[in-house]
Amino acid sequence: MKWLDVVAEEDLADGAAALFRSAFGGEPEGVWIAPGRVNLIGEHIDYAGGLVLPFALPYATAVAVRRREDTVMRAVSTHTDESWTGELAEIGPGAPAGWSAYVAGVAWALLEHGVGGVDVAVHSSVPVGSGLSSSAALECSFALAISELFGLQVDRNVLIDASIRAENEIAGASTGGMDQNIAMSAQPGHALLLDCLDGSTRQIPLDLDASGTRLLVIDTNAPHRLVDGQYGARRKSLDTAYAELGVTTLRGLDLEQTVSRLVDDTLVSRVRHIISEIGRVEQAAGLLDRGAAGSELGALMTASHVSLRDDYEVSSPELDSAVDAALRAGAHGARMTGGGFGGSAIALVPSDIVDAVVIEIDSSAARSGLPKPTFLRAEPAGSAHRFF
Ligand code: ADP
Ligand code: MG
Repeated sequence: MKWLDVVAEEDLADGAAALFRSAFGGEPEGVWIAPGRVNLIGEHIDYAGGLVLPFALPYATAVAVRRREDTVMRAVSTHTDESWTGELAEIGPGAPAGWSAYVAGVAWALLEHGVGGVDVAVHSSVPVGSGLSSSAALECSFALAISELFGLQVDRNVLIDASIRAENEIAGASTGGMDQNIAMSAQPGHALLLDCLDGSTRQIPLDLDASGTRLLVIDTNAPHRLVDGQYGARRKSLDTAYAELGVTTLRGLDLEQTVSRLVDDTLVSRVRHIISEIGRVEQAAGLLDRGAAGSELGALMTASHVSLRDDYEVSSPELDSAVDAALRAGAHGARMTGGGFGGSAIALVPSDIVDAVVIEIDSSAARSGLPKPTFLRAEPAGSAHRFF
């Protein structure tokens, strides 16, 4: 069984600092760390004015940073041999290309607040490109670093916005903001209820011990699929639904009444996912408020998966295999998490059968000729902070 080890913050920071020394010489001024995340429930509804319920993972990204006297920026990472050196003034949409857009974009978005030249070395334990938000962990650790080093007079909301802009405008990847919000606001032992309609947030205790459960993240290691078109198609079908219904959001609408006004079967399915998923997040938040992270929460997670698989049609054979195997082995519930078509799943499992669930997911993938999954521990962690 392939488990991904949690790397202690000290070792993460050491990795970033060691790379910094070998790439740039001398010592960094400090190291900042920000977490990856997983969404407990509330999928594909961030762009529909819904509610999402992510929490931070104990897997994180560390950046070792030092200011420069000029207006040059240099970026290196232990994840790749590709490094970048450029002028701050050269940063813009599509430039730089590649991974450094995620850090350069943050500097660019904060330029007006007084950011100058800077060297950054990155080291991470978040799987890259598995739907666990290595991108926001990178943006947010670096945003906090330069905000503190350059003494920017901004709060974390400005850093969240700068990180979102870096990803949307400079890296050219679409992101709704959930990832940056949780990386910057997470509290240990809590999930964050994020209202995508008005941007408000609420910390909700996620007490797994009290319920005798564990959350398990399964990185399916599915091959990367070109699915940008699918994402656009889902958003377009929502626009069609808004137009036919004469509304600007599906939030607060009655499910049966709403779908009875739509003719097209596919559109009915898409809308049914959105409205039912919003309801499930509300119910999940209510359960967590009562300290109930057991079988009822699991049932909501499984219902979310079925809705994403059948109504929204964004699952994949790897995700279905992991979810089905987890349930067979006795998990309270399981679902795909993130955009879908691959990436990761999350399962809520009674503490005493975690090993059995892991074995069943692993052997089920092997039996179906799917990639060997990687298992991650998912205890809710804290937000971006300075390590030294
Ligand atoms: P996810 O956020 O789910 O991991 P994304 O596609 O949003 O997937 O972001 C992954 C991209 O972020 C990578 O392709 C790379 O460009 C950048 N990235 C994330 N972590 C690192 C890292 N440690 N070093 C270099 N680039 C990184
Ligand atoms: Mg990402």
